[in-house]
Amino acid sequence: MSSTIEISKICGWCGKEFIARKCSTKYCCKRCSEHAYKAKKRKEHVARCNEKTVEAEKVKQSGNNEYMTPRQCASLLGLCVRTVYYHLEANLIPCIRLKGKTLISRASIDKMFENPPEYIKREKKVAEPIEEFYTTKQILEKFGISNSWLFKMAKERNIPKTVVRGKTLWSRKHIDNNLADKQPTETVAGEWYSVEEVCAKFNMSKEAVYRFVSERKIGKRKDKCKVFYSRRQFDKAMGIESELKPEYYTMPEAMARYNMTRDQISHYVRTHDIPRSYEGRYVRIDRKALDALFAPPKIG
Ligand SMILES: [Zn+2]
Repeated sequence: MSSTIEISKICGWCGKEFIARKCSTKYCCKRCSEHAYKAKKRKEHVARCNEKTVEAEKVKQSGNNEYMTPRQCASLLGLCVRTVYYHLEANLIPCIRLKGKTLISRASIDKMFENPPEYIKREKKVAEPIEEFYTTKQILEKFGISNSWLFKMAKERNIPKTVVRGKTLWSRKHIDNNLADKQPTETVAGEWYSVEEVCAKFNMSKEAVYRFVSERKIGKRKDKCKVFYSRRQFDKAMGIESELKPEYYTMPEAMARYNMTRDQISHYVRTHDIPRSYEGRYVRIDRKALDALFAPPKIG
């Protein structure tokens, strides 16, 4: 909203005089305001970096203290904190615990160096040969991923593979480990039909299913390259009473429930691939999945 007031001001960036319409205006134009914003952010960043350096210096200095925390010990020995804890757990580095605070004495560290065990050359680890494999086709079927995704992922994570008689074979162990989170989940299965389920239940051909869902605009979701259709909407379109209770939020319900804007809800739904369907232009968001996403964090 533009006002009728006119205030003569000096731009905080370029120093030129200009006419402001609001008391809070600091800069003459968008460009100046952007420059000022960037400069401010840069300053903050530098300040943060300096703070970190001071902090690190403090930790380093404390290596001279008689007693150290595991973090200070890690800094002293040039190890990561996790490694120090590993040695503590293995009782290789002596420590005491005072009300949850772990302390290591500098003297005990020094003592470790007085009578060190003899240095033995480390034996080279022999990698066990890989003898169990998946074919590409097996992986695509089992994990529901696409061919290109598989090859991209395998390249990034260095998954061992070999080609035998023109067939690519992948290390089973590596694939299982790397695709553990892609194992088919059953959580939303009840709410959604797969194409095969529809074919079997309604005795339709795949082509008929595709035509039907597109004509009736049945809500769908994709899960690992496999498409699923809203069971509720499908049943309704088929004229049968759905046995499922309404288990969704409408957009206004979700906004009210989590005190968020439409954009925020849409963002979460999209990025976390929350199952949703559409009735006309109204979105129905899977209640269970959305609640799970916003559930307060819990450990144990
Ligand atoms: Zn300016």
